Amino acid sequence: MTQERKIAVVTGGNKGIGYEICRQLAQKGVDVILTARDEARGTKACETLRKQGVPVRFHPLDVDDPGSVGRIREFVERAFGRLDILVNNAGINIDAEKTGANVDLETVSRTFRTNVYGPLLLCQAFLPLMRQRNFGRIVNVSSTMGSLAEMAGGYPAYRISKTALNALTRVLAYESMGTNIRVNSMCPGWVRTDMGGPEAERSTEEGADTAVWLATLPDGGPTGGFFRDRKRIPW
Ligand code: NAP
Repeated sequence: MTQERKIAVVTGGNKGIGYEICRQLAQKGVDVILTARDEARGTKACETLRKQGVPVRFHPLDVDDPGSVGRIREFVERAFGRLDILVNNAGINIDAEKTGANVDLETVSRTFRTNVYGPLLLCQAFLPLMRQRNFGRIVNVSSTMGSLAEMAGGYPAYRISKTALNALTRVLAYESMGTNIRVNSMCPGWVRTDMGGPEAERSTEEGADTAVWLATLPDGGPTGGFFRDRKRIPW
């Protein structure tokens, strides 16, 4: 019997860590839906991967737009009738110059819409499909900047949004107990991307590794955890 290919949706797949997660998952034989908010950037990324012999599909997705989340859910349900893997990778970090004492609500709200509400809506969109088949792997790409154990100052909206994303991981993992749905957070480390900058210590290949590992966990694998380099780290 041939094994059924897993279907994955990756958000923010047009560049950086998300692009690399798509590449590595597709290389492992996963049927990847690379999503991006900008259609031209997304299709270009898919074309580049196709030329490298790594075929992936494209679908537009702006995680900050509930209508767009609804459209990808409809597409996935119609085209496949299931979703096995959801990687909430898309994220913004727009408050480098701010402190907790002066950050404005518009910045916090924008950051939350992308980094927290988007992942929440996507989980709500796809969990019913995962529950139907009792299979799911949800990976929330977080950051140790959101770790309460290592909390420091600066980047307040970004930090608080990642703490909230980690809480979402815990809530959904708890609610999925007793099922074959695994929900985990991970930190990619400091990675050379547009967000991480050129001085960062890690390549995107290194940054994507733990997310890909969590996305392809075997049955009985960990759930409700926060990981870096495939090891648990403190919340
Ligand atoms: P990046 O190069 O800036 O890429 C971010 C991706 O998210 C881009 O594809 C971007 O699309 C997409 N995105 C932003 N807003 C979106 C929206 N509303 N809808 C859909 N896509 C959206 O950043 P990265 O370094 O690869 O970061 C990926 C994830 O890793 C983020 O969650 C980030 O917080 C996390 N992380 C990164 C580092 C690091 O050192 N780089 C460290 C810890 C955690 P556009 O191209 O259209 O903007």
